[in-house]
Amino acid sequence: MPSVIYHPAYRKYNFGEDHPFSPVRTDMMLDLLSALGHAVSPLEPEPATRADILSVHEESFVSRVEALSTGREVPDREDYGLGTPDNPVFPGMDEAARWHVGGTLQGARLIFEQGEKRVFQLGGGLHHARRKFASGFCIYNDLAIAVNYLTRQGLWVAYLDIDVHHSDGVQQILYEDMRAMTVSFHESGRYLFPGKGDIHELGSGPGRGLKLNIPLEPFTEGDSYIEAFDAVLGASLGSFKPGVFVVQAGADAHFDDPLADLMLTTHDYEKIFRRILEYADTFAAGRVLFTLGGGTLSAPLPAYGQCSI
Ligand SMILES: [Zn+2]
Repeated sequence: MPSVIYHPAYRKYNFGEDHPFSPVRTDMMLDLLSALGHAVSPLEPEPATRADILSVHEESFVSRVEALSTGREVPDREDYGLGTPDNPVFPGMDEAARWHVGGTLQGARLIFEQGEKRVFQLGGGLHHARRKFASGFCIYNDLAIAVNYLTRQGLWVAYLDIDVHHSDGVQQILYEDMRAMTVSFHESGRYLFPGKGDIHELGSGPGRGLKLNIPLEPFTEGDSYIEAFDAVLGASLGSFKPGVFVVQAGADAHFDDPLADLMLTTHDYEKIFRRILEYADTFAAGRVLFTLGGGTLSAPLPAYGQCSI
């Protein structure tokens, strides 16, 4: 079993009952693991500090999140993506977002400081958040903050994103960084939010050539997906030689996800995760940090709402 990171405080990241993002899927996953005889005892992180957040986000943005979090008015909040239908304001949103960042950061620290190989953070994966703009249910970008931490320790990072939505926030923040390769497999931005992730988005400056995008047509099924997966990763990882993988493991490319149009099955996901572990073993001494990312229930259950990133 990998090390699992989770804290009940993750549930505070909640935009309200009518919002499609719901924290309940983590409960579902823990219930399922338990029912399958794999009950886990998660490690509990601390929330990220303000300094952690400022390693990636601009102070003007963070101070507005903090103000809105405590009920103060911020007239220009929508200029920062706050108070929108996707990212409504809720009390305590700053702290709630910092819990998820703290979990992903703890995963990175477990790998770098304590030699852990496989870590699964049962939260985070908030890949749309930009330096000074909340987007797509994402306030703070836990992934970019964790990647930034790892590269500062001298590890080159292969960031792999299998969420059906393009990882626009992570890509933007790391666009010039030569220490981080980002690879995003997603439904083409011609059809799906956030409308980014074209093959010509390759990075800039020292990061040029290290930002890879594989936009897929609607209704792409598993065999085609995995063919592209192997073709791109086999070549690029051999060239880049990462020290660690950070994965946004969104499950919304599943055929039953109602908000997107790819056609992966649970068997395809099993193949994909086995490949990721093999690639991590081959190229990064087995070091891989998974985060939860997006995914939506096909039909709301009485006790469980929808969720997507
Ligand atoms: Zn998604």
